[in-house]
Amino acid sequence: MTKTEDIAHKSGEFIKPTTWMSRDCPICGASSGLVRIGERTYQVPTRAGNYLFHHQDVQCPYCGFVFTANVPDEEFLNIYYQNVHTHRSEITHIPPSYNTHVRLNRLQQSACIGDQILEIGASDGQFLQILNKAGFNAIGVDPLDDSEGRPTAGLVSGKDLKSFVAKQKFDAVLSYYVLEHVSNPRQWISDLCRFLRPRGTAIIEVPNFERYPTECFNNEHFQHFTKTHLKVLLGLCGFEEVRIFEEGSYYFGMTTVARLGERSQLETCLSYYRRGIESVAAINTKIGEAVLVALRAAGSEDRIVVWGASQLGIEAARQLLSQGRSDFLCVDNAASKIGRVVVPIPGAVLAPDALNRDQKHIFILCAYSGNASVLKQIRGMSFRSAYVISSDLEIREELSALA
Ligand SMILES: [Zn+2]
Repeated sequence: MTKTEDIAHKSGEFIKPTTWMSRDCPICGASSGLVRIGERTYQVPTRAGNYLFHHQDVQCPYCGFVFTANVPDEEFLNIYYQNVHTHRSEITHIPPSYNTHVRLNRLQQSACIGDQILEIGASDGQFLQILNKAGFNAIGVDPLDDSEGRPTAGLVSGKDLKSFVAKQKFDAVLSYYVLEHVSNPRQWISDLCRFLRPRGTAIIEVPNFERYPTECFNNEHFQHFTKTHLKVLLGLCGFEEVRIFEEGSYYFGMTTVARLGERSQLETCLSYYRRGIESVAAINTKIGEAVLVALRAAGSEDRIVVWGASQLGIEAARQLLSQGRSDFLCVDNAASKIGRVVVPIPGAVLAPDALNRDQKHIFILCAYSGNASVLKQIRGMSFRSAYVISSDLEIREELSALA
């Protein structure tokens, strides 16, 4: 961490103080091995004093992303933007060289008239007016203080994305030339997602670093996107169908149109997971009951056999051991398992033929499917006496040889 204050004292000029914090790769999260590729220093005069920006440019050795390794705190940036731009400044009023028709056309291809639209970084609300005139229900947020500008319908000023509270979710969220300015792009996109309904569309325009690297370097840009990095970032944030267009509303731009993944799908998968976990617990409870039944049926001379060196068989073995029985056998029909040691089953897995048919056997059937056919097999093997219980408690049978 470095402080601009310290640098200011050295140069003798008044500089707005801030703390610059180092950060990990905004795309892949790599924190070590970042390769330093250059430094840039800017002193930016604003109506409230001088701001010093000192960028330490690095490249991520893992994903190749080029970004500034150190960023000022959010508060500094919010105040900086309020002091450097005003709604009347030429920078925030969209210059004629920015093609708002391109923006509108792009939106019209993925949204319907009447859709709820949120523009993040709406500056003086100029594009909001175009959107509303075209039949959309658009509102915008911007950290700029609107006290100097004309109030624009639908423009909520003085709000950064974190503190903005919307009454509803939006069909589309738009953002032009904001993402390269933020100190934590991944967090910023997550914040954006809070305002988007599932399957809603994000349209994000940033400078194209591959085609216009020179234009990407200024004091306000903390990361430089290629198509690939933009796509990966959106994908990591839960977007699907991420499309990148090399034509933006400004000559150096590129536009991402991405659809937010179905959150209900995530919920559904989570419910499958919970159901799966619950049924595993239920099966284990049943195996425990089957083990107790088997133990009650087994005299001290009788042989307890777990049939099936499966996950179920392992659980049956675990429960037998916890009941103090370690003198049981495990058999399996599978050649791949016979002769193997399967922890915690004592001894190697045996072939069913290895059992002594003159002894009384207590079988716990632990085949995932096909306990019925195992029962048939046991019947055919003509044990002198056998008691069979399946791990799901659905089979309970006392067998004795016909002889
Ligand atoms: Zn990386």
